[in-house]
Amino acid sequence: MEENFVNLTIDGQPVKVKKGTTILQAAREVGIDIPTLCFLKDINEVGDCRMCIVEIEGRRGFATSCIQKAEEGMVVHTNTPDIIEARKVVLDLIISNHKIDCLTCIRSGNCELQTLANKFNITKVEFEGDMTKHDIDDLSPSIVRDFNKCILCRRCVATCKKVQKVGAIDSINRGFESCVSTVGNHSLNDVNCTFCGQCIQACPTGALHEKETTDEVWEKLKDQDTYVVAQTAPAVRATLGEEFGMPIGTNVTGKMVTALKRLGFDKVFDTNTGADFTIMEEANEFVERCQQNENLPMITSCSPGWVKFIEMNYPELLPHLSTCKSPHQMFGALIKTYYAQKEGIDPNKIYVVSVMPCIAKKFERQRPEMKNNGLYDVDNVITTRELARMIKQANIEFTQLGDSEFDNPMGEATGAGAIFGTSGGVMEAALRTAQDTLTGENLEKIDFEQVRGADGIKKATVNIGGKDIKVVAASGLANAREILEEIKSGKADYQFVEIMACPGGCIMGGGQPIKSSKIRSEVDVRKLRASTLYTIDEKSTIRKSHENPIVKKIYQEYLEKPGSYRAEKLLHTHYQEREKYKI
Ligand code: SF4
Ligand code: SF4
Ligand code: SF4
Repeated sequence: MEENFVNLTIDGQPVKVKKGTTILQAAREVGIDIPTLCFLKDINEVGDCRMCIVEIEGRRGFATSCIQKAEEGMVVHTNTPDIIEARKVVLDLIISNHKIDCLTCIRSGNCELQTLANKFNITKVEFEGDMTKHDIDDLSPSIVRDFNKCILCRRCVATCKKVQKVGAIDSINRGFESCVSTVGNHSLNDVNCTFCGQCIQACPTGALHEKETTDEVWEKLKDQDTYVVAQTAPAVRATLGEEFGMPIGTNVTGKMVTALKRLGFDKVFDTNTGADFTIMEEANEFVERCQQNENLPMITSCSPGWVKFIEMNYPELLPHLSTCKSPHQMFGALIKTYYAQKEGIDPNKIYVVSVMPCIAKKFERQRPEMKNNGLYDVDNVITTRELARMIKQANIEFTQLGDSEFDNPMGEATGAGAIFGTSGGVMEAALRTAQDTLTGENLEKIDFEQVRGADGIKKATVNIGGKDIKVVAASGLANAREILEEIKSGKADYQFVEIMACPGGCIMGGGQPIKSSKIRSEVDVRKLRASTLYTIDEKSTIRKSHENPIVKKIYQEYLEKPGSYRAEKLLHTHYQEREKYKI
């Protein structure tokens, strides 16, 4: 309908957009780029930083294009000399209170402030004066906050409050003292932060980043006496290529394995196999709970940011959580027991490095419960970004690498393991095994389309063996909270719930390649990455975890059966009520 559209002119180009479209969006629709800093589509659209200013003919002063709606007949200019000068002043002011150390900054090369400073040819600091100084918060195992590099865009605050509904950080003080902080300015380690890392994904600068632990990996790789094993999560293979300029969602499984071998890892295993064990244990636990009609709905436990969230916010619902460890923890435990025994390697000499899309897994691996015989299941967790940095340091031309296979006997995985990396995937993988277990048949219907897709909450009813089972998959902690409130109030009638802390699941995890605000507003990053995992699943010869030969073999030779004494000891865990504030 014509009345739903407006016509305007931007930089001399006629533009027709839907009513309600901002000038920024309208300009981008016709390929005119307006620079932004505080803008983050659908999350932080507040017009604070004033980088996106434009001139509108007939109006005085500048308008902020990220909030100003396009109107019929508007004539807009986005790059006059006055606008360029005003943007330079904005940048000068920001930079005058910024710790500039691009040479040693973790975000150099992928920093929105640096990009704009280059673009606007900022070669010296115009306004020099006192700078606010902040202590660096590096107490947590997952996140480092360096507010000397904060530009007060508040993208992190909006993400933590709106997307995650956690509210661990907020803007405090005014004027020169203004900053983003936590309750009482305590470390993120001591407040209600879940370590989901979504604030890192939102941050345009190096003010927030993961706790780097690659130095220790290099040390271990140097040490001839240490047997260094890498395992890689399902979601990493769909994103690592982006760090080397490859299109979003390129499947780089083979190149990733080659790179890890070149780095010197003694073995490279696939965490997807660990995911198959998680499914075996989780499906068994689900069937048992259904038979005994207790602790339903059962809620998945493979996302450590989510686990920390429920421990802090809904401890009364902890009995609903599956007792299964997450796939990489299960796999680490098996590497240091079954594999060590089989290969005659002293488990004390094995160093397991998990390459993960997640920064909460750095916290998870240190939980005291994640130990067996005094040894941690996993010794180090590095993110997709950290692995990319290691590959770059080793001067490996990633895009030129050939493909290699994961090492056996722990490298064989199924399509079910692959889809663990996306929201709804754990549910779908578990249902494939649960339906065969409950019916005693080898059912052909294995695609559960109802739990796929972009929605933050996906509800479905699946019929297994003549019985309707209600399931829901939620991603993002705001959505998790909604489901938990339903369960708490007794209104929920689900039997099985999948929850992942990050919106969209691990493919959008806090340790994944960071996409600029512009890319995030123009491309459906989640969809591109998720489709890679579904393609891997479709092309897999084995798509059900219980049909994985290596899984069958390890149960036969070592674990006996899902839920056995040994399986419980190695593959399951327990949870604890956790204080939100340790202060
Ligand atoms: S945050 Fe950006 S501008 Fe600041 S030091 Fe790091 S790379 Fe440079
Ligand atoms: S890691 Fe997650 S919970 Fe913690 S401050 Fe960042 S967004 Fe909030
Ligand atoms: S920490 Fe990053 S996202 Fe948060 S306000 Fe500062 S610059 Fe913006």
